[in-house]
Amino acid sequence: HGEAFPEAAPDTDFAEAQARQNAWDALKQVRQNLGKTYLPIVNGEPVNTIDRVDSVNPSNPEEVIGTIGLLSLEQGDRAIAAAKAALPAWRRTPAAERVAILRKAGDLMERRRFHLCAWMMLEVGKPLRECDAEVTEAIDFCRYYAAQMEAIDRGYNFDVAGETDRYHYQPRGITVVISPWNFPLAIPTGMTVASLVAGNCTLLKPAEVSSVIAAQIAEILVEAGIPPGVFQYVPCKGSTVGAHLVKHPDVNTIAFTGSQEVGCRIYADAAILQPGQTHLKRVIAEMGGKNGVIIDESADLDQAVAGVVQSAFGYSGQKCSACSRAIVLDAVYDTFVARLREATRSLNVGPAEDPSTQVGPTIDATARDRIGEYIAKGKAQAEVLVEVPAPDTGYFVGPIVFGEVKPEAEIAQEEIFGPVLAVIRARDFDEALAIANGTNYALTGGLYSRTPSHIERAKAEFEVGNLYINRGITGAIVSRQPFGGFKLSGVGSKAGGPDYVLQFLEPRTITENV
Ligand code: NAP
Repeated sequence: HGEAFPEAAPDTDFAEAQARQNAWDALKQVRQNLGKTYLPIVNGEPVNTIDRVDSVNPSNPEEVIGTIGLLSLEQGDRAIAAAKAALPAWRRTPAAERVAILRKAGDLMERRRFHLCAWMMLEVGKPLRECDAEVTEAIDFCRYYAAQMEAIDRGYNFDVAGETDRYHYQPRGITVVISPWNFPLAIPTGMTVASLVAGNCTLLKPAEVSSVIAAQIAEILVEAGIPPGVFQYVPCKGSTVGAHLVKHPDVNTIAFTGSQEVGCRIYADAAILQPGQTHLKRVIAEMGGKNGVIIDESADLDQAVAGVVQSAFGYSGQKCSACSRAIVLDAVYDTFVARLREATRSLNVGPAEDPSTQVGPTIDATARDRIGEYIAKGKAQAEVLVEVPAPDTGYFVGPIVFGEVKPEAEIAQEEIFGPVLAVIRARDFDEALAIANGTNYALTGGLYSRTPSHIERAKAEFEVGNLYINRGITGAIVSRQPFGGFKLSGVGSKAGGPDYVLQFLEPRTITENV
């Protein structure tokens, strides 16, 4: 129990010239492969679709990354039927064989690391280093869930004299995975392979704007040996066909990561028993955050400023774990804010593929405009400490920091999902903790402090799934920092944690008198 995960993959050391060269070579190759069409894969075959949509580069929307075929309702039903037909053989496949497929998928990702990075830079505007860390996470999910399944497969033996009592797990059935665009490789991979390794037939419905990357996942899983019908790649419109799949009576599990609004909707939809449905569905919902970092009077401010800037503006604030509130004690407020302003001002904003870029674009025009509306509200309610200019081609939003924000202001309560940071002044540590806990989210949180009593109180009272002390609050590592929140941030599921795969299984007890 608690030992380190031995198979964890290392990130690339980009200090090495060869590594940088390999990454830029892969980018060139991927650029020569843009503009292809990616069709849904149903029962092992690509299916033609009436609806198609282009996925574009958010740094330069004129660059089309690929065209996605969108599954229809009727094709969705066919995919579920194919999953149902494939289930009996897949659930009987020995766990060791399923585990081997995951390990192979992880190895294929390792081999294609820089190509996967390139697809991410281009399709979702994520800078290289963050893409590289994401590939590592995806590989780790494959290997970690494989190792988890090996352990789970042993089951339990509670025998007494004259009686065997065996406890084991069976797959739940058919899973629909619904993923967000912001971790377009790691999150869909993690949810999908955990479901598959547990013996479930699994449909992957990626977020529309990151469907080309999801097609790379599909290609890798097929190459790794996943049989037709067991895994199906089903890009489709979430609000219509996605919702239909959630409600389908033959679906057992929905693994969702995305916004609070959609997660709550899916939770409600899945609770309604449909005609012909003879089981209860399970929803694994991992949702948003309004994550706060407390900086107290004993904090190392150099560390705190660097950690807050990185956590707030990494991937343009488009992480569920991003810091969107800095809660600063009165005694250090002015000093902290002065340093934060300078650190933010020095950020390079530009295309994700540019090696000097620290902050890339936001995902699309809708996101850019929504963030813009929050910025306008912020300007009416708080003081602008710094606003960094951004290129006007592409979907860029310059990082912005608001000061003297009221804890109940919209920009301090609602998930903006962009490079917008609210700094809130707190009288003392009690008030800081109350502000930190004063939202309906509970995903990540942080504390910069050298005061042992504050650190102990934060451990006990700071209501978040992942609490980080004296470090940034993003970048959880599989098996080291199992990730996920509670309250309205999620059902308490922990991606990359020891209980994750269990959610895709049902336990059974068999007692035999001997
Ligand atoms: P989103 O708008 O909720 O979309 C997520 C997925 O749900 C997409 O695939 C979407 O499809 C689909 N969808 C939309 N409406 C649906 C419906 N009625 N029924 C079924 N599926 C539906 O979220 P997003 O913008 O992609 O991602 C950002 C959000 O994810 C943020 O809130 C972020 O905090 C959260 N997030 C949480 C975690 C975590 O681990 N807790 C991690 C990453 C992101 P379409 O694309 O076709 O609309």
